[in-house]
Amino acid sequence: MSKKSVVSEAQEIQLAMELINLGARLQLLETEVALSRERLLKLYKELKGVSPPKGMLPFSTDWFLTWQPNIHASLFINIHKFLVDHAGATGIQAVMKAYKLYLEQMPPEPGVEPLLSLTRAWTLVRFFQSKMLAMAPCDKCQGKFVVDCLDLNHAYQCGLCNMPSRAGKTKKVKDARDAKDAREAKEARQAKDADSAATALLNA
Ligand SMILES: [Zn+2]
Repeated sequence: MSKKSVVSEAQEIQLAMELINLGARLQLLETEVALSRERLLKLYKELKGVSPPKGMLPFSTDWFLTWQPNIHASLFINIHKFLVDHAGATGIQAVMKAYKLYLEQMPPEPGVEPLLSLTRAWTLVRFFQSKMLAMAPCDKCQGKFVVDCLDLNHAYQCGLCNMPSRAGKTKKVKDARDAKDAREAKEARQAKDADSAATALLNA
C-alpha cells in the first residue's frame, strides 16, 4: 500500500465507521474503503463488539424480484437514482445517502433488522450497473419497479397493483387462521354429536 496522508486515512476510517454502523458486511467494506483487511476487522470489532459474519454476499438477483423485497428495493433504487441524477451524488456516498432516506421511509420495528440491508442495497446498485436488473414502469400505477432485464417487461404490473394472493401472510396470520379452522372444526363436531344424540333420543 502506498503511503497515505493522515487526513485521507482519517477520511477512510470515517467512511468505514459510517458503513459499519449502517450494517455493512466485510466484503462491502473491503471493496469501498481503502484500508487493510486487518484494520477493517479491528474497526468492526471495536464498533460492534463482535467479529463480522463470515460467508459470501448474496449473489443472486432473485431475492430482489420476490414480492416484498421488490417493493423495498424499488423504493431504494428510486431514491438512489434521484440522488445521482439530481443531487450529484456518486459511488458509495450515493448508496449511503439513499439508504438513510430509505430507512426514514421504511423504519423497521425496534429491534428488527431492516428488510433491505445496506449490503443488499449496495449489491442492488451493482446489479443495475452490470445491467442484470433494471427499472420498468407499472402499467397501472406508473411507479417504477425493479425488474429482471431478461424478462418481458411490457405491460408490467407491480406487486402493489397485482398483489399475489399469499402476499403478506405472516406466521401470525397463518396461526390465527389455523386456530380459527380448528375452532370451526370442533364446533362442527360438537353440533354433529348433539344432532346424533338428539336423533338417538327421538328413536329411543
Ligand atoms: Zn403498480
